[in-house]
Amino acid sequence: MGEIYKCCNNPQITYLAAVNINISEKTIGSVDVWRCAFCKKSFCEEKQLGIESITDIVGMPRIEDDEKWAVIVSKTQKGKDKWKLSKLKKSGIIKFETVDEKIIDLKMDDYKIVDDFHSSFLVEDYLNTSVEI
Ligand SMILES: [Zn+2]
Repeated sequence: MGEIYKCCNNPQITYLAAVNINISEKTIGSVDVWRCAFCKKSFCEEKQLGIESITDIVGMPRIEDDEKWAVIVSKTQKGKDKWKLSKLKKSGIIKFETVDEKIIDLKMDDYKIVDDFHSSFLVEDYLNTSVEI
């Protein structure tokens, strides 16, 4: 058994908000955002339309202090393959797995992807709104 991830010594995680992902004004998925009231860290879960999932606190995905939740948009893909929940750093290179399972390098600058075929946005900037991708 792996170690159970705790964001802090006193986790109090509650649901915060959702960000809807739209294509041509139709919602195709969403990102659910949860936050710890104690340490203020947030946790995100990707939801594709029609696929139900239940998150428990133990299953919260780990995020490091120097990372932010973001959605990476692939300009060359369509539908559900067009977006993916990720974690971005202020700068550097992220290893990104494409739909056809290739690992490519994407450059990050100020928590954004800088690339001809990919773009990104931060989840925290769009809480309780819809984003057209
Ligand atoms: Zn916490």
